[in-house]
Amino acid sequence: MGNADLVARGLKSVWHPCTQMKDHESLPLVPIKRGEGVWLEDFENNRYIDAVSSWWVNLFGHANPRINAAIVEQIEQLEHVILAGFTHEPVVRLSERLIEVTPPGLNKCFYADNGSSAVEAALKMSYHYWKNCGQPAKKNFVNLSNSYHGETLGALALGDVALYKETYHPLLMDVITAPSPDAYHREPGESEESYALRQFAEMEKILAERHEEICAVVVEPLIQCAGGMRMHHPVYHTKLREACDRYHVHLIADEIAVGFGRTGTMFALEQASITPDFMCLSKGLTAGYLPLSVVLTTDKVYDAFYDDYNTLKAFLHSHSYTGNPIGCAVALATLDIFRDDRVIESNRELSACMSESVAHLADHPNVGDIRQCGMTLAIEMVKDKTSKTPFPWQERRGVRVYQHALTRQALLRPLGNVVYFMPPYIITKDQIRHLAQVATEGIEIAVRD
Ligand SMILES: *Cc1c(COP(=O)(O)O)cnc(C)c1O
Repeated sequence: MGNADLVARGLKSVWHPCTQMKDHESLPLVPIKRGEGVWLEDFENNRYIDAVSSWWVNLFGHANPRINAAIVEQIEQLEHVILAGFTHEPVVRLSERLIEVTPPGLNKCFYADNGSSAVEAALKMSYHYWKNCGQPAKKNFVNLSNSYHGETLGALALGDVALYKETYHPLLMDVITAPSPDAYHREPGESEESYALRQFAEMEKILAERHEEICAVVVEPLIQCAGGMRMHHPVYHTKLREACDRYHVHLIADEIAVGFGRTGTMFALEQASITPDFMCLSKGLTAGYLPLSVVLTTDKVYDAFYDDYNTLKAFLHSHSYTGNPIGCAVALATLDIFRDDRVIESNRELSACMSESVAHLADHPNVGDIRQCGMTLAIEMVKDKTSKTPFPWQERRGVRVYQHALTRQALLRPLGNVVYFMPPYIITKDQIRHLAQVATEGIEIAVRD
């Protein structure tokens, strides 16, 4: 099997995600034969550093021996079993460990099999909680502008990225959108903290006026990833927690992308010192191996569903692969690596290296912003630096960075005009410096007329 062969067959049978398939008339698919560590390899010995962790999921490299071993061990015991009426050791151990490592007060784990499904479950639980408590009028959700929560209809309704949402607008439930604390929009000289506080005033107003019809506020803490790796100050969430308590509104934290160390702490909300009412996790939960997700919630929420069957207060929601034992075993191996290798601590050096490696781009006339939160770094290309005027999206300048990177052993996949690094944590400093070099070249090529 060669590259060309697989690509030709693939284009006949596979409809690829998030892709205009016609693009592949000019932009070749990249066939991957194997992965090892940060590297992805094709059939002709070309290799690429996976700088985007294969869509933000991979944490400890491809074909990680410790995770592989955990899968083999589990698969010989039990591959899957129904989780209604039955239980198994990996799901119990994983739940205990997740309760231990997440913010205090999250004591119950409900499983699903991808991020969007976890968001859907959290939305339904929040609504159902208020209904069980005699407040069925609470049925609306508040989101932030430029947010992203997945692609299924409920999760899509909660998002605010027009590119993904607009086409389906007639199918989606209405939500109440508060302005994002996204620090990119702060005034010159204004601190990220004071901008976040200023933006919070609008959220406070929405909650004050409409809390009787609102079940929950849904946020992506610290980084709006799909929205272009836009970042904001944690004080927003400290304020939000306090307001949600005051107005009897749930706080749903979607840490699907930012959880598991991407922001520099194990979970992003640690930086706001708060506990949400619901926390959705997926992506890094299985270090990029298997589809698994979980909604963690509080005893208070759980207790509102706990009653005699005939009251119909139970959460009658499920997915076929809920709590899959192999996925749980992988998640346990992932948490072991975090603990045994002190990953959060040792990532600090890597994130310092990331910022140093791109510092020279700060003065570039077409770089509007370089921002970083822990292990996520983003460089925003602009047409005009002073006014931050973006390049028109139709010009697809990010694709030029992507194409250049492929010729230089790197998988960089910009979001529009935003070039970013979200690498596996086993990347070396030399590899980071190589990515920075490739990104610099790519930006130079991309901003030419
Ligand atoms: C990826 C993502 C989702 C959706 O997860 P899927 O597994 O792709 O359905 C939801 N929220 C955020 C913040 C994400 O980044």
